[in-house]
Amino acid sequence: MNSIAAIALALAVQEKGVGYDDTPQLPDQKWKVHDSQRPVPPVVTPGDAPGKAPSDAVVLFDGKDLSKWHDGKSNESKWKVEDGYFEAVKGAGTITTRDEFGDFQLHIEWRAPDPPKGTSQGRGNSGVFLGGRYELQVLDSYENRTYADGQAGSMYGQFPPLVNASRKPGEWQVYDVIFIYPRFKEGKLETPAFLTVLHNGVLLHNKQPYIGASTHRAVGKYSEHKPQGPISLQDHGDPVRFRNIWIRAIKGYDEK
Ligand code: MG
Repeated sequence: MNSIAAIALALAVQEKGVGYDDTPQLPDQKWKVHDSQRPVPPVVTPGDAPGKAPSDAVVLFDGKDLSKWHDGKSNESKWKVEDGYFEAVKGAGTITTRDEFGDFQLHIEWRAPDPPKGTSQGRGNSGVFLGGRYELQVLDSYENRTYADGQAGSMYGQFPPLVNASRKPGEWQVYDVIFIYPRFKEGKLETPAFLTVLHNGVLLHNKQPYIGASTHRAVGKYSEHKPQGPISLQDHGDPVRFRNIWIRAIKGYDEK
């Protein structure tokens, strides 16, 4: 085939939009380059404004009630629901989603108390426990010195965020999280949990592995669990507020 005929054929195939069947195999994948048989990704309708839930998300708080959460004791949540947000209540305990999720993308908005009260870890402390075990720290880190691996956006006790992108207390802040569960094989860790986080649109962690489950004054360790779990929000005694929480499954992460 001369080059003009080859280009004509390529254009004809492209017009049909079906790719190629005579191209080289992609390494470590079952597909060829531009494979005509490769399934196309599903259509997801994005939210109608930045931060709004896309069409395939599970909404964990819609501004009205905490029916999707419980405190592990009373089978409900005793945190305070107000107009479009909810607030941690000292002593009401950590709250956890009723449902469990595999690898996920999570959007969560939070607000540290205004006026601020307390110092270091005592100021606007809460936390998002990914899979119920791995803490992404929530703290008022606007002009509030604490240990680096405990400030807002830290992988608590393990890695400080790359930068401090905190807004002032009283202003709403956003975490956009991508979390991949650890994988275990025959009781041994095969791959660690991976975290990617944007804080107010600024990158804090880029596929950073957790050392293990989050803990205080100790090095976190892994213990075998399935690659799914709930989301928990920490009651650390401070009236931190949350709103607009949604989660969507990352499907096919292991598939190539
Ligand atoms: Mg915390």
